[in-house]
This record gives sequence, structure tokens and C-alpha cells, in this order.
Amino acid sequence: MSDSHVYPVMPSIAQKAHADEAKYQALYQQSITDPEGFWREQGQIIDWIKPYSNVKHTSFDTGHVDIRWFEDGTLNVAANCIDRHLKDKGDQIALIWEGDDPNDDATLTYQALYEHVGRFANALKAQGVKKGDVVCLYMPMVMEAAIAMLACARIGAVHTVVFGGFSPEALAGRIIDSNAKVVVTADEGVRGGRAVPLKQNVDEALTHPNVKSIEKVVVYQRTGGDIDWHNHRDVWWHEVTENASVDCPAEEMQAEDPLFILYTSGSTGTPKGVLHTTGGYLVYAAMTFKYVFDYQDGEVFWCTADVGWITGHSYLVYGPLANGAKTLLFEGVPTYPTTARMSEVVDKHQVNILYTAPTAIRALMAKGNEAVAGTQRNSLRIMGSVGEPINPEAWEWYHSTIGNQACPIVDTWWQTETGGILITPLPGATPLKPGSATRPFFGVQPALVDNMGNLLDGATEGNLVMLDSWPGQMRTVFGDHDRFEQTYFSTFKGMYFTGDGARRDQDGYYWITGRVDDVLNISGHRMGTAEVESALVAFNKIAEAAIVGVPHDIKGQAIYAYITLNAGEVPSAELHKEVKEWVRKEIGPIATPDFIHWTDALPKTRSGKIMRRILRKIATGETGSLGDTSTLADPSVVDKLIAEKESVV
Ligand code: ATP
Ligand code: MG
Repeated sequence: MSDSHVYPVMPSIAQKAHADEAKYQALYQQSITDPEGFWREQGQIIDWIKPYSNVKHTSFDTGHVDIRWFEDGTLNVAANCIDRHLKDKGDQIALIWEGDDPNDDATLTYQALYEHVGRFANALKAQGVKKGDVVCLYMPMVMEAAIAMLACARIGAVHTVVFGGFSPEALAGRIIDSNAKVVVTADEGVRGGRAVPLKQNVDEALTHPNVKSIEKVVVYQRTGGDIDWHNHRDVWWHEVTENASVDCPAEEMQAEDPLFILYTSGSTGTPKGVLHTTGGYLVYAAMTFKYVFDYQDGEVFWCTADVGWITGHSYLVYGPLANGAKTLLFEGVPTYPTTARMSEVVDKHQVNILYTAPTAIRALMAKGNEAVAGTQRNSLRIMGSVGEPINPEAWEWYHSTIGNQACPIVDTWWQTETGGILITPLPGATPLKPGSATRPFFGVQPALVDNMGNLLDGATEGNLVMLDSWPGQMRTVFGDHDRFEQTYFSTFKGMYFTGDGARRDQDGYYWITGRVDDVLNISGHRMGTAEVESALVAFNKIAEAAIVGVPHDIKGQAIYAYITLNAGEVPSAELHKEVKEWVRKEIGPIATPDFIHWTDALPKTRSGKIMRRILRKIATGETGSLGDTSTLADPSVVDKLIAEKESVV
């Protein structure tokens, strides 16, 4: 990963940005030397019912991990995302909805959103939902998904959103773990032209013998498709809201009252039920949204993530709405009905800020200019990436082809656990290096440690930890504080361990090298997955690549590379040789793959991340013990890979 290529800050962006370099430096310094004072001031980005006097009360000490922010303040998240904008922005657009079918779209103003949320909040109450109860949302990407989240927040119910692509088993597991009382779903979802049987999946999940907590199922009618109905339990969204009042007082919540539970993507093991609370989370989501995307009044912001992921929570719903922004919610997939759909949506709604994931970028890149056919994308000003390391090749393609070389790219590193973005460029402040998430956000203190937990200085590589808390940090694993301490605070005493490895360069920029569990050790050289994979993706015929280590008598470990090719390319002995030579030249002999496994698809989580732990098991032939596969997007990929392994050389 060479960092020779630097994109300076664009003066046109810096001029009107919320932060230029001088302001970033000044605010960052203050946030680290005086966190209390800094956050006391910044906490004002949202409205409080009762002001806070205690700003920060946090401890990372193993055995006593305790994280509280603004704890004596009170507020309501829905009131912050809606009510406070009514005076100035009541008739302005809050939500833009783009349907799976390019002919379907709709908008809601802040006033209309207020009314929908109020009605649904009252309907939830009428169904017996009280402050503190857990409501499970298993929804397609319709505006009602956001409305339901905000309605929960309005009455102090805790939502747990489960991605609509999850199976009945996975849904049942999350309902059992969260003890949800009500499920909100739709008859069917629509994605890529196909119906998704959401209600049927809920029915099946609720037959699980350990699901005992659900009293009601609220069903939003999306398609009108045939579904089973259980009179004692099922109610229609349109019926329960029909006569409901729009007036629903916003519940006064303590800053540390729970806002939501959300399960992690399951890339590295069984998903964790991450608990986020009210005050600190909203301050952090609002502030990162404003600065990282440099949101300017009136702009259209489009985050392509599903509401079922943390990105959908913080940057589709809470961050944008807390800032009074226009946020676009897309029901479909970026390649349907045409490869250019994402670009078409940008043109149609004149999107100014686009936030998507490397998996989508690589998929489009494999199709070349088809991804932008017939589109201009001139409205774009800023683009973002999240979810996995973005290979420099994919970064450059995103920048030049989608962004017309006119938009800074913010490569945002964060986790479900962190609530909001921790390491990222700011568009008006940070010179960009493709493949680097660059520098910490305000109040964030990243550090690199060796395996003994010793702090490393200067340009180096190590385990990525955080030395102090930030307001958006998760507070616990729901129902299992021990697991919280064990997972994040026991590896390195007194520090939050991210599970990721990183390199820091001479400019203090961070480069995520991959999960530390995936680190390879080749002849005594430790190697992250990102660098080798990026070298492979930089080869002009390769679309996507994942590497894992397999035992080797002499080297300790050998490199096993899974590779998918661009449309039209076919594997051959010649190509095999070319690829090896390419890596040898790009990185060196040490990184040359020992085995190449050509395939059509890699196993991914439903949030689109490559699951290397499964690839490792396949490469080493331990296919009897694949671990938790419930979060796999397409389990058939695994069987195919196992069958293909026979012919790998
Ligand atoms: P689980 O924790 O269940 O194994 P997960 O870690 O994939 O799943 P998420 O919280 O969705 O769950 O993802 C966070 C992880 O995604 C980070 O720890 C990091 O490995 C990766 N990630 C996110 N953004 C970036 C980025 N910009 N660059 C590199 N890696 C990223
Ligand atoms: Mg994780």
C-alpha cells in the first residue's frame, strides 16, 4: 500500500467547510487536552430538556468498565430529529424514498414525518408498548422503517432492528436475546425485483420454542401479497394508525437510558447485542454527520446502507435528521434493474453526498463504465466509504468514475460498537491518501500496541486500540456485561480493543490492515490481509480477492488466495502465473500466493463483508466446523467453494 499518492484538500471545499485544517487541529487538540470542556460545549449540538452538568464519567478498567456521558441531562431523540426543526423546516423535505422499481418514489416533509411518527407512537402504546420495552423491527427499506424507529424513540421504547434479509432462525435468535415484546414487519419486502416474505419469516420465527416474549405483530402492507393471519396477535399498520392521534408527547429520557440494541455483522463470530444509549449516541451521531460529510443546509444525503446496520442507524436516520438534513432511503440494490442504478439515483434526486461500501464499489468496478452509463453525477460533492478496507484501486475508480474526480472521498473507519465514525478524513481539512482512513475524529484517541499491550510510537504497525471513551461508545453487550468486558477490555488492560490491526505512517495517518484474527505469519513476517488483497485487486483482470493463511511446513503459513475475475475474464494457467508475478512485483516474494482458488463469489455477511474465518476453514479442509454461519448472505457459496477446492493449485 504505497502512500505516495496524495490528494490535497480542494480549496472550493475548504472555503465553506465546517472545518478546515486549522480548525480541525485546534478542535482536536482541545478535545484531547480537555475532553470535559470540549464535550460540554459540543453536547449543545442537540436540544436537552434538562441540561447536563456531569459530562464524562468513564472507566476502561477491567472489572469496572463503566461508561456514562451527560448522565444527569434529559432529552428525547425523536424530538431532536423532528420537533425542533418544525419551526424553520416544517415544509422542507426530511425523507426521500426511492423504490426498488425506478418509477416508485416519495418524499416526506418534517411536518409530515412528525405526524406519521406521532400516530405510530400512539399506535405502539395502544398495543401495550411502554417505556423500556423492546420492539423488534424487521422491515424492508420503506419510510415506515425510519418512522417506526423514531416512534420507539419518542415513547422511550428500545428498538432492535433486524436486517430484512435475515432468515427466520436468525430473527428468532435476536428476538430471544433481546426479549422483544412486539415485532413490526411488512407483508413482503421488494429487492432487486423479487418479493421477500417478511411476514412469513416472522410467523416461522415465532414458532421457535424459545420465543416467548412476543405479544403483537404489526404488519405494514407493502405489496398486498398473500400472508397468513393470526387474529390474536397480528394487526395491520394502516388499521392501528388510522384513528391514532398525531399528538404524542415525547418521553423525557435520561441520557443513559437505552435507545437501541443492534447486533454486529457476525464477520468474526456470533453477533454481539450492542447497546447504545440516548444522549451520548445522539450527540456523537449528529456531530460526526455534520463534520465528516460536511453537510450544508439543503443538500441531499444518500447512505446506501440498510437500516438493519449501524450505518443505517447513525447516517441514514439519526445523524442526518438531528441536523435537519434531507436523507434518501433506497429500497433496492445498486445494480438493479441496470448496473447504472446507483448513478441513476444520484442524478434523479440530485444527490450531493453519497455514502456506500467497498463491496458495492468493487462490484460496480468489475463492470467498468456500465456503472455510469447515461448519467452525469454532477450533483455529487462528497463521497464516503465504510465497512471494509477500501482497496486503493477501488478508491481511485470510485473517485474518477463515479465522482468525476471532483469529490473528496471520506474513508470512514468505525464499528457497530463505536456508534459513529472514529477515524476519517474531514473534506475541508484532510489531504487524502487512497486506502487510508487517515486521522481521528474529535475526542478520539487511537493508539497502536504490540501483542503485550505496549504502546508503539511513530510510524509503525500494531493492534488498534482506543485510549479513552467518546460519547457514541456502546455501553454494554445487552444482558451480558461480562462479555462486554471480556471482548473489548481484557486483551489490553485499560484500553478499548477494536479487534482490527492498523499501520500508522509518518504523517500520523492510519491504514487499517484487517482483523487481527486474520493476520498471517509467513516465515516470521506478520502480514495483514488488506495489503495483499489490495495488490490483487489492483491487477486489471481481478474484481475481488480474499487471502487466508494455511499451515506450511517450512514457512509456518502459506498464502491461499480466493480470486474472482472481472466480467469476461477466465482462469488459466497463464493467468495463474501472471497473478503470482504481479504480487511478487507489487509487494515482494514473501506475499506471493501459494495457492490460487478461482471462484465466482466470496462468502459475505449480509452487510457485504468478506468472511475470512469461513474461507480459512475451507482452505484448511476443516469444513465440519464452520462456526456461526447464520449471518452469511448466501450459504450456497460455501458449498460451491468446498467443491471447487479439489482443483486448487
Ligand atoms: P462482528 O463484530 O460480529 O465480527 P463486524 O466486525 O463485521 O462483525 P461491524 O460492526 O459491522 O461488524 O463492522 C466493523 C468492522 O468493519 C471494523 O472492525 C472493521 O474491521 C471493518 N471496517 C469498517 N469500516 C472500515 C473502514 N473504513 N476501513 C477498514 N475497515 C473497516
Ligand atoms: Mg466487529
